[in-house]
Amino acid sequence: IAEIRKTSPRVADLIEKEYNRQKNNVELIASENYCSEAVMAACGSCLSWKYAEGYPAKPIERHSGNKGRYYGGTRYVDELEEYCCDMWRKVFDTDYHVNVQPHSGSQANFAAYKAVLEPGDTILSLNLDNGGHLTHGSAVNFSGKLYDVHFYNVDENGFIDMEDLKKKANELHPKLILTGASAYSRTIDFPAFAEIAKSVDAYFMVDMAHIAGLVAGGEHISPFGYADIITTTTHKTLRGPRGGMIFCREELAKKVDSAVFPYAQGGPLEHIIAGKAVCAEEALRPEFKEYAHQVVVNCKAFAEEFIKMGYNVVTGGTDNHVFLLDLSDHEFSGRDLQNALDEVGITLNKNCVPNEKRSPMQTSGVRVGTAPMTTRGFKEEDFIKVAHRIDEVVKQLDAEKAAEK
Ligand code: PLP
Repeated sequence: IAEIRKTSPRVADLIEKEYNRQKNNVELIASENYCSEAVMAACGSCLSWKYAEGYPAKPIERHSGNKGRYYGGTRYVDELEEYCCDMWRKVFDTDYHVNVQPHSGSQANFAAYKAVLEPGDTILSLNLDNGGHLTHGSAVNFSGKLYDVHFYNVDENGFIDMEDLKKKANELHPKLILTGASAYSRTIDFPAFAEIAKSVDAYFMVDMAHIAGLVAGGEHISPFGYADIITTTTHKTLRGPRGGMIFCREELAKKVDSAVFPYAQGGPLEHIIAGKAVCAEEALRPEFKEYAHQVVVNCKAFAEEFIKMGYNVVTGGTDNHVFLLDLSDHEFSGRDLQNALDEVGITLNKNCVPNEKRSPMQTSGVRVGTAPMTTRGFKEEDFIKVAHRIDEVVKQLDAEKAAEK
């Protein structure tokens, strides 16, 4: 900060304020986390201005002209990128090909689709309203505009409806079946998905952005061995830098690599790749397993406390790092609660609930996650206290709505 302040006091001030906000607030956004000083330092290193379009190649491949970089001076970033790929294969105990260049989860998905689909091909995925992500076929996103996307749903209790998936897969014969979510609190049955995809000769893709840290820590079943393509972000439960990655079966490696570069992106962010490599090393340590376990234990205790207080938790609980509070029976919206909690130093986000009646800008629910505060050392009893603080704010909003009436 001192260095930034010398050049730009305004930018330094804003970073400092955001740092303090993150430090002093209870952060419950399910897609966020705090990364280590080592990851931060790697991301702020001299690698940020190194151009390295292309992929690392052995000297012999470089000379053949088919593989390699479009710039000189890449000796060290070549080594780094290969090391990063090796570390991630170790984290997930896999021999899948890995591409660590995607700048974000959305760009990983963009490239993954390009690797196996043509525009107009059919995708069967989970709707945004039911917990899926914007890039899983939303009408306002490239995915909904480029592809013919159909959705399987969650059942009336909020669980992925495997019968609906099977029925639609048989009717539509999609080229790709996709699973993964931004707001789904239950274990996803990857073997069952893979079987259905195989039965209709579809590619099976998993976007494990949210749960990747739990997969790495052994707290969620792994998609490796089941999915043909796996995308992820590195900044959620994995606690790494902001970025994306794609894993795939070896036979798709060339298609995935060329979909990332030169199709979707230019030069890779080698500083972020350095951060991803540090993050992988951290994820390989025994402490990370303990962390992932505590995230889940905390989440269960947190959700159970809300249930005890009479709240409607979607699906009646959680198996992972997230749950949804359904506030449909209150007069106020998810946005009202998000804003009111902001005022008392609790950060979370509004979220649609299954069978949502309000607009996506209002919503009838909020999404609650335990990954960031677990990084800061919160245990079950801390989350239970936060549940009661949230309940006080809910009661206050109820009283305000009653008074308005
Ligand atoms: N996939 C899922 C399941 C997500 O939840 C997200 C982001 O929240 C993304 C992809 C996109 O990641 P990014 O914001 O890095 O583009």
